[in-house]
Amino acid sequence: MRIIVCAKQVPDTSEVKIDPVKHTIIREGVPSILNPDDANALEEALKIKDQYPDTVISVVTMGPPQAKDMLIECLAMGADEGVLLSDRAVGGSDTWATSNALSAAIKKMGHYDLIFAGRQAIDGDTAQVGPQIAEKLNLPQVTYVTEFAIDDNMKDITVKRSLEDGYEEIKIQTPCMLTAIKELNAPRYMSVSGIVHACSSEADIKVWNAKDVEVDLDTVGLDASPTNVYRSFTPAPKGKGIIIEADGVKEQAKELLINLKSKHVI
Ligand SMILES: Cc1cc2nc3c(=O)[nH]c(=O)nc-3n(C[C@H](O)[C@H](O)[C@H](O)COP(=O)(O)OP(=O)(O)OC[C@H]3O[C@@H](n4cnc5c(N)ncnc54)[C@H](O)[C@@H]3O)c2cc1C
Repeated sequence: MRIIVCAKQVPDTSEVKIDPVKHTIIREGVPSILNPDDANALEEALKIKDQYPDTVISVVTMGPPQAKDMLIECLAMGADEGVLLSDRAVGGSDTWATSNALSAAIKKMGHYDLIFAGRQAIDGDTAQVGPQIAEKLNLPQVTYVTEFAIDDNMKDITVKRSLEDGYEEIKIQTPCMLTAIKELNAPRYMSVSGIVHACSSEADIKVWNAKDVEVDLDTVGLDASPTNVYRSFTPAPKGKGIIIEADGVKEQAKELLINLKSKHVI
């Protein structure tokens, strides 16, 4: 079985800096990590490999050259191969263009049975890329996966999908796309032997450009992106809250009512 995991390197900070002209996130100089949901996606793939050692796990990412460090981390956790799609032509891509580029890279990677992505990346936060890739590769998909089981036939999968007020149990067959959330598992640490291997010359990390994946250049990059960011800004901190001091809950409720009425909220 071959599993492809889509993983994104994201800034390791809540202090996200935004380019005031391009309205894109400034990634240079900001410490980066493996996107948390993608670590869950990789962990689930690794659990399958623990059970079925013939499984091959390939991690694909689109990003700047330093995203290779994240692929090394994925290999040190136990993935077999990493693919980095890095090219100025794909820079500035929105989710539509990102999924075009990643779909092209996945097609180039050849046969796969299962694709795992994270539910969402902590910088973009759209949760669109996984479902868009599935659409573009014509694959069935289940998002928000919290439990996963695969039959010995390596075809039949049962997943639990998280909803706002409950769960869905869904049966799906490979090939398919699943997006992982943090409740799915606890990602493992890198192993010492994994780190040694991932940092050695034997580590299988390929760096491809847009030409390598034969993506239509009119569908990737900033100019091809249909999303136009009108304005990006850091919200101003909220003012101090008011604590209503009164004798008992009834009195507090009365005070609250008076307060809201005086402000014409109700
Ligand atoms: C106009 C515009 C310009 C932008 N320019 C840039 C830019 O220059 N550089 C940039 O990094 N972002 C840029 N972005 C943000 C970019 O659209 C998103 O970061 C990216 O498309 C992924 O969307 P997301 O972060 O919301 O991911 P989500 O849709 O929330 O991610 C879901 C899952 O998809 C997978 N995934 C997402 N992105 C990648 C990736 N790159 N590689 C592998 N797997 C991935 C992961 O598994 C992830 O958990 C831009 C956005 C806009 C609107």
